[in-house]
Amino acid sequence: MLATCRAPDGQGQIHAQCDAALVWKGGEILWTGPDAALPAETSSLETSGDAENRLVIPGLIDCHTHLAFGGWREDEFEQRIRGISYQEIAARGGGILRTVSATRSASDEELSARCLKWLAEMAALGVTTVEVKSGYGLTVEQELRILRIYARLKQKQPVRIVSTLLAAHALPQKFLGNRAGYIRQVAQNLIPEVARQKLAQFCDAFVEDGAFTADEARTVLQAGMDCGLRPKLHADQLSDSGGAALAAELGCISADHLDCVSEDGIRRLARSGTVAVSLPLASLYLGRPPAPARSLIDHGVPVAVATDFNPGTAPSFHLPLAMLLACTLQKMTPCEALKGATLYAARAIGEEERCGSLEPGKRADFVIIDAPSVNHWIYHFMANRPVATFIAGKRVEAADRGE
Ligand SMILES: [Zn+2]
Repeated sequence: MLATCRAPDGQGQIHAQCDAALVWKGGEILWTGPDAALPAETSSLETSGDAENRLVIPGLIDCHTHLAFGGWREDEFEQRIRGISYQEIAARGGGILRTVSATRSASDEELSARCLKWLAEMAALGVTTVEVKSGYGLTVEQELRILRIYARLKQKQPVRIVSTLLAAHALPQKFLGNRAGYIRQVAQNLIPEVARQKLAQFCDAFVEDGAFTADEARTVLQAGMDCGLRPKLHADQLSDSGGAALAAELGCISADHLDCVSEDGIRRLARSGTVAVSLPLASLYLGRPPAPARSLIDHGVPVAVATDFNPGTAPSFHLPLAMLLACTLQKMTPCEALKGATLYAARAIGEEERCGSLEPGKRADFVIIDAPSVNHWIYHFMANRPVATFIAGKRVEAADRGE
């Protein structure tokens, strides 16, 4: 079965076809359709094999990760199980700022080697494009350093990388009592430099109690837009803090988390065309109700599904697991979850013209899954179901997959 995940007809329509063929050349898709209707001119092309009644899907897209970080925080995992809240842990010196010091003291080589290993493991799960955020540097130099590491990763391995500046992730210790000073530094020094060096396409901010206010995020994202960085937002994760309204006001390409989004926020997102990025692994790890995906979809908001891979609240990059959680916890159908991890995920990172669906002119990024249908794949969940991942028409070889 070939699930093209083309755009028409909304979240639940993946345009699946049995007895279908996919034709590509030089990394680009030329044709998809019924086997029996293969155009004559394709007969001169080499055939690359038969998927043997397996499922063929567009390469999965993880549109929200915090890939480069030092250390881990497994002790906080136990503390949360024992009932200590995320905010309390942060107030005791844990949380994001602890990862900031571990990241600052890790070398470029260490950070890069960790990312390379994880990207290979993600490709083995069927992921072909990953959005990666900075945000564990929190100084001009350190944020630039992380974005440069991402830029170099693009040359070193086949998974496609889209970079986002998330300097407004947490207030660094040095600026306690001088919030305005940090916002100024990000807006006036860091953002113009990131844009000048073309190190990121997007600018993101974390609006939450204990992180940044909507006004502070507006200043940062506006500065980003002035320099050509498109805005994204961590919105309404732990409380309804007006994140969705701000994302809609600024025309953010995505509003991510939304676990606590209000009815009014949902309506605003629907009007602005912003993609809602659901991160059910984070909700699961925090033991909190996830975003109201059903209501978002019913109001016409496209819902993407991603992992939020980070060392605190989502220490897993297993995107198919996040898709399963979107089904069981958020009542998305398997087909809705698939469109959320392909076409709508591409839309959330501005890549819809290039990937996210199997259509002529797009990149030949696709995955063969050892299951007869989308429902069967998600329902009979297994650790690693892809039998082959193709990026730009080339099979990602075992060596690339870190095996
Ligand atoms: Zn995040």
